[in-house]
Amino acid sequence: MSGIKYEFLSIPESISGLGDLAYNLWWGWHPEGRELFMLLDRRAWDLSGHNPVKMLKLLDETVLASASRDPHFLRHYDAMMARLQKDMDLSHGWFCANVADPKDLTIAYFSAEYGLHQALPVYAGGLGFLAGDFLKECSDLGLPAVGIGFMYPEGYLLQQITSDGWQVGACEMLDRRTAPIRRVLDADGKPLHVDIPLLGSHIYVEVWRVQVGRTDLYLMDTAVDANDPWNRSISDRLYTGDPEQRLRQEIVLGIGGVRVLKALGIKPSLVHLNEGHPAFAILERIREKVETGLSYEVAADEVRKTTVFTTHTPVPAGHDKFPFPLMENYFGSYLSSFGVSREEFLKMGVDPKDPAGGFNLTAFALKMSEYRNCVSKRHLEVTKKMWRHLWPDLPEEEIPIDYVTNGVHVPTWIDRRLGNDIFNRYLGRDWLEEHDNPLIWGLIDEIPDDLLWDHHRKTKMRLLNKIKERAREKWIGGDGDPRTIMALGVLLDQDVLTIGFARRFASYKRSTLIFKDAERLRRIVTDAQRPVQIIFAGKAHPDDQQSKLLLQEVFNFARDRSFGGRIAFVEDYDQHLAHYLVHGVDLWLNNPRPPMEASGTSGMKASLNGVPQLSVLDGWWVEGYNGKNGWAFEGFDDPDRNVRDDRDAASIYDILEKEVVPLYYDVDDAGVPRGWVRAMKETIRVTGPNFCARRMVKEYMEKFYQPALEPAISQKNLILERERT
Ligand SMILES: *Cc1c(COP(=O)(O)O)cnc(C)c1O
Repeated sequence: MSGIKYEFLSIPESISGLGDLAYNLWWGWHPEGRELFMLLDRRAWDLSGHNPVKMLKLLDETVLASASRDPHFLRHYDAMMARLQKDMDLSHGWFCANVADPKDLTIAYFSAEYGLHQALPVYAGGLGFLAGDFLKECSDLGLPAVGIGFMYPEGYLLQQITSDGWQVGACEMLDRRTAPIRRVLDADGKPLHVDIPLLGSHIYVEVWRVQVGRTDLYLMDTAVDANDPWNRSISDRLYTGDPEQRLRQEIVLGIGGVRVLKALGIKPSLVHLNEGHPAFAILERIREKVETGLSYEVAADEVRKTTVFTTHTPVPAGHDKFPFPLMENYFGSYLSSFGVSREEFLKMGVDPKDPAGGFNLTAFALKMSEYRNCVSKRHLEVTKKMWRHLWPDLPEEEIPIDYVTNGVHVPTWIDRRLGNDIFNRYLGRDWLEEHDNPLIWGLIDEIPDDLLWDHHRKTKMRLLNKIKERAREKWIGGDGDPRTIMALGVLLDQDVLTIGFARRFASYKRSTLIFKDAERLRRIVTDAQRPVQIIFAGKAHPDDQQSKLLLQEVFNFARDRSFGGRIAFVEDYDQHLAHYLVHGVDLWLNNPRPPMEASGTSGMKASLNGVPQLSVLDGWWVEGYNGKNGWAFEGFDDPDRNVRDDRDAASIYDILEKEVVPLYYDVDDAGVPRGWVRAMKETIRVTGPNFCARRMVKEYMEKFYQPALEPAISQKNLILERERT
């Protein structure tokens, strides 16, 4: 794209493509890309935290110089560059072959966060990983997609736990020089500034480009000298608690995002809003159209027909609401520029159920988008109940909200060895290319039990080694007393049934549920013959004291001698640790308070890798569970939370005692738990084709994108035909 230049690294000519490769997160889901960097210098790779941009900047020039003359390295380099080049070409791929010519179409995807790789920490949790996996899959399928989001220069919490179990955050500043991002420059070679009118004054954003395979993601950054301090700090942190700053953030994300696309010369054919945060994009798109002479009504209609809105939150309190006076303050003069009265505008964000509650972004997005969806079948039921009053005349089944169940990006989340050494051999070489085809996964039964079990044991060992290594570092660093170090997983045992529980500490996720009857749990985990161990990980929002208390509670159980070292808390849950956990534990535990889990994705990552899930029937598990691929229980329904929690905890203990533990420890003479391995295979067979991001993106395509793009596609055909005649 014109107007974009990069700060190049000084790399010898013959291997200059390394710079491009480093800046393309493609290496994040192509192991051979990472291996090339490891081949270059293994130590620098590790020191950089597996961030090739940082690594190249750390490297001694002599290393690069000698690599540029090393025939062995050059052969790998050439093969890799050929592969990358082929993968970057939009004129092949599923979209081009099955939908349309991607050249003149653009699907703009807006999200407040993206989880792509730990080298670019602009995410908080599930919503971010969903968006990151989405963009990667768009790249794989060749969709003409472009992402819009935020840089959060101060956004990332490095979690440390004090000896009394309290989370203290050290904020990791995102270093723009070593992150895999490149500044977008204007025609004069200066940083591109896009201005956003707000309250009469202006806010400027700079733009950073992230290359996600063949998909571009643009991140906005308000830390610009031309901004006053208050405006500079708009993009500091993800999900600030201050309502006004949050509104300003969302104005920049939505309105600013559309302006950035315009400044880049990108005309979106449709806009997909991932959750309500970027919903103001709708207004700016209408404004643009009114500016070209359309009436407000026609403009709004055009925008509506090309907007897809995905809601992710079954909790009413989780939807952004802003006081009307605050809204008037910010939008007053903006609105007058395109002839919408304040009353009309504010009405768009009114939730008829709570008319005085403020401007509700979800209500606004639902009203202003033609295509609306939830993220699981269960979530759809909840959402229809929550919003049916927006369509008072329609019976429930006709409420125009659909669902597309979330999925995870298979190349990102599959264990590399499981994919390369086992699936390649037993599912066929094309398994990854065809992974949303259920027939391929039928071959899973061909994998010898002992081979799969042996693989799993090794992965588990890698996880335990990783955990102990981290504890050792903390011990050596003199950081933490011995009891705290013990709580970090020092006593974990390779031969013990291992449960993983890793997620944000949000109260609806019920991180402490399994401790409800501590005595019973103690008996289960310290059983002399068939013990159980549980590994916890997760962060609390830095401003959320309630969640920090929950974390402390878990940590105190981990420190409690009477649990025999069978409970561990691992610090700093991020994408890197998530990989180890979802590959290496034996069982994934999920027990949110139904129906609060819209979908959940960590259980999909685990199941994809043959780690069965024990979960309450909520979110994706309602669709995913088939009786053979893990365990499920119906959440108990009672107005009293305490009663519900007691009963749900009892369900978990029952399942563990009666089913999970006996199955796990029932091994044959060769030491293989045949029944357990059968569950592992069933788990993979169900998750592989059904809960992958590929199935998800194709479903978005069929249900929403194609109908929304239809006019654009057919219009083009018309023009072509006219040209021909
Ligand atoms: C997948 C993932 C999440 C989201 O998991 P949920 O099951 O949706 O809670 C959060 N954090 C990390 C690091 C992840 O990898």
